[in-house]
Amino acid sequence: MSLSEASVIWMDGALVPWHEARVHVLTHGLHYGTGVLEGTRVFATAEGPAVFRLADHLRRLERSARMLRIDLPYGEEELARATVDLVRANGHESCYLRHFAFLGYGAMGLDMRSSPVSTVIASWDSLAALDSGGRAIRVKTSSWQRTSPNAVPNAAKATGPYLNSVLARREATDAGYDEALLLDAEGFVSECSSENVFAVRGGVLRTPPASAGALEGITQDTVLTLARQLGVEVRVENLLRSDLYAADEVFVCGTAAGVVPVHSLDDRELPDAPGDLTKRLADLYEAAVSGAEPRYRGWLTPVGR
Ligand code: PMP
Repeated sequence: MSLSEASVIWMDGALVPWHEARVHVLTHGLHYGTGVLEGTRVFATAEGPAVFRLADHLRRLERSARMLRIDLPYGEEELARATVDLVRANGHESCYLRHFAFLGYGAMGLDMRSSPVSTVIASWDSLAALDSGGRAIRVKTSSWQRTSPNAVPNAAKATGPYLNSVLARREATDAGYDEALLLDAEGFVSECSSENVFAVRGGVLRTPPASAGALEGITQDTVLTLARQLGVEVRVENLLRSDLYAADEVFVCGTAAGVVPVHSLDDRELPDAPGDLTKRLADLYEAAVSGAEPRYRGWLTPVGR
């Protein structure tokens, strides 16, 4: 994945040139993973670029910080303004945004109270979450277990615990697959390394709950909302890996990935990839993020040109 560099990064209240947004090597977050993050997207719409579900992303960032006892120096409104300023300054028509806050250079050691908090927003023209080139993906169940909610709070989108996802993704791609499926300690399906997972059988749409260690994905919530409005029966409940093997359709979804059909799970091919419901939901998602569907305009924050 190559990243195109934008001109500025928002860092601790100011727009700074891309290469000047630096930290000290003894940054607490580098050593102990003490940080929280968000991945958010800006889509091109007929009215110019617009951020999708910005308030929801910023509120999750705030909740993540609260769970980790990191005091965010900026509130939702300030971060929303900073986001718009950054997207305009970088002249993006569409982009991927990374909001994050981490403990900086203060004191070495596990005590987190003496390190200052840094807050950053960076942007890229695009960021491909899955290198599948748009085709349905091949997924493999990971030998790595999803971190237990009593080891780290999975509901917090925190930097340190991403090691779990990084290990799982590396194992899957080394073995020739596109993505890893992680199970929780009980063997229930949790999620993929950076997407939530859905299974369709007999017209019923199912996805695992947060109690299985899955992030409360904003795209997952979007898909559930869209499906309910289509009149589809949805269930947020524990799934076994065999529920995925036996499904009619499986797809994964996340901010960077969008809605992506699964071709096979552990080499067991799904009957339909993409299946009918996956296609309908992917189309509706596209209509929502692009502003083409007026009923979802409330999810878009216009950036202005
Ligand atoms: N699970 C994990 C582990 C993720 O990293 C992501 C990406 N943020 C998701 C699920 C999907 O979440 P969202 O739809 O909010 O991007």
